[in-house]
Amino acid sequence: MNRWTQLVQFDPCPGDSYRANSTPIYQTATFAQPSMESGCAYDYSRSGNPTRHTVEKQIAQLEQGRFAFAFNSGMAALTALTGILQCGDHIIAGDELYGGTHRLLSQRLPQRGISVTWVNTTDIKSVAKAFTNKTRLVLIETPSNPLQKITEIRLLTDLAHKRDALCVVDNTMLSPWLQQPLLLGADIVIHSATKHLGGHSDLTAGVIITDQQEIADKIAFIQNAEGAGLAPFESWLLLRGLKTLGLRIEREQHTAIQIAHHLNNHPLVKKVYYPGLLHHPGYDIHIKQSKGPGTVIAFECGSHIATEEMIAKTQLFIKSVSFGSLNSLISLPSCMSHASVPENQRHFTTNLLRLSIGIEDVDDLIADLDQALSRSYQKK
Ligand SMILES: *Cc1c(COP(=O)(O)O)cnc(C)c1O
Repeated sequence: MNRWTQLVQFDPCPGDSYRANSTPIYQTATFAQPSMESGCAYDYSRSGNPTRHTVEKQIAQLEQGRFAFAFNSGMAALTALTGILQCGDHIIAGDELYGGTHRLLSQRLPQRGISVTWVNTTDIKSVAKAFTNKTRLVLIETPSNPLQKITEIRLLTDLAHKRDALCVVDNTMLSPWLQQPLLLGADIVIHSATKHLGGHSDLTAGVIITDQQEIADKIAFIQNAEGAGLAPFESWLLLRGLKTLGLRIEREQHTAIQIAHHLNNHPLVKKVYYPGLLHHPGYDIHIKQSKGPGTVIAFECGSHIATEEMIAKTQLFIKSVSFGSLNSLISLPSCMSHASVPENQRHFTTNLLRLSIGIEDVDDLIADLDQALSRSYQKK
């Protein structure tokens, strides 16, 4: 089946006698068991729920994996992932991961005796040097956020596998619509479904996807043992958002490409970070391993004061963290999404702006950026 078809053609409620066209929200904690001895599909919603299973199956398919597990946030999914590690284990992590992931790895894991080395994963030699005989996991985001640095997934997984480690890709930035890391050798894919997968800024959710039975068994155990599985209503919202994943991303990306080129040619803009621009480092690798540059653009113009003024002057861009929403957003990563990353570990300045492009009209968005730019930077 083509992926456009897949998004809407699936069994919305396996076994349901009324055959609803929208998956029912099985808002129940418990399920009656036909007899005390015989096993049944569901007994308790923490362990399994039909609405959650339907969305998990859909996301597994989209990422081309056999198993998916939905959690109540991206951070809950990442936390569950670290549950497969033991005291003494070591992680190699990209040096520009999401701020919350940085906080989890640097402030929670040491308490469990798990150590982390931060590495620029765009440089495979640095990654190779970071391995110890305790390294179990390599965790990356590509493109990274906010600088959109590109890591070659195939190269990294080959290296990880040679050293008996697992390669995990946080694929939140592009979604499976634009990049499918399992097909490039990755062992596990993670998502903050709060972003593109949900797509409407109306829920928080996270997902772990894998093709490997052994990993799936561990994650299923953790999901049940720790109880952070996604609730029925949120599962339904996520399922509804997913149906328009292709429509949303294609439109948002089409607009983002035009805006990135516009900014790149704008006299008041100093530098644009977007993997769809020819000059972007890793452009060739990105083209090879993905289906597009995505919907997030970072750029720099000038002083911090003017940058804050520019944000204040935009009218259509909501001043907000996150990305992958229907509305266009503008943010200052240094004091918003990446505020929890210590300043000396950040690779960008307080002047860096980040845009997340929504489904509005491209000319309206460009006109808004232009007026905000000329009113904040020109006079400086
Ligand atoms: C937002 C985000 C997370 C965290 O997800 P939540 O749903 O906010 O808990 C993890 N990784 C990336 C890349 C993100 O953008």
